[in-house]
Amino acid sequence: MRNTSSIAYISLGSNIGDSPACMDEALRLTAAISGVKVAAVSGRWRTEPQDDKNQPWFVNQAAALYTGLAPLDLLKLLQGVENALGRVREWGRRFGPRTIDLDILLYERQDGLEQGAWLEISLPELTLPHPRFRRRAFVLVPLREVAAKTSTKLLAETQAALDKLDYRLEGDRIFQA
Ligand code: ADP
Ligand code: MG
Repeated sequence: MRNTSSIAYISLGSNIGDSPACMDEALRLTAAISGVKVAAVSGRWRTEPQDDKNQPWFVNQAAALYTGLAPLDLLKLLQGVENALGRVREWGRRFGPRTIDLDILLYERQDGLEQGAWLEISLPELTLPHPRFRRRAFVLVPLREVAAKTSTKLLAETQAALDKLDYRLEGDRIFQA
């Protein structure tokens, strides 16, 4: 077993085809990555598209991964999972439909001096913490469920971020103004 000395929180989103099946497959492929162990997953939530309304509703989920992989290596492997599921990127349509979108939200080293702080990275291909997740109920609501299983610190952070947003839950649906 490779070391799994860090924890990464990821979000999964899908709104093309059989989204629950895509997400099952994405989680299966993620769990199969050498150096990744899935620590916890949230339930699945349905959300209205926010930026580009002319597309189907999304299914959103979050997961916590124990990993020994550096953040950029993890990102590349998660992009491999996206590609394996046939994600098509439409040029110029950043927030458009997708079979699966895997984003890294937060990454924390568990073994070193930096323990207790989210890793900060600012590269063209990877920004951590994810720059927009604290404004998105569709990310925070699933993440809060995962946090309840893994981290009291993150549970408090996600709750504080949600308290600032105008959103409501109806069954498994998330609405955000
Ligand atoms: P988005 O997730 O913003 O809807 P994409 O999935 O198409 O859009 O991502 C575009 C680019 O964002 C990716 O090529 C990736 O390199 C970059 N990126 C920057 N930070 C992150 C992050 N924290 N997680 C995932 N991708 C990221
Ligand atoms: Mg993405």
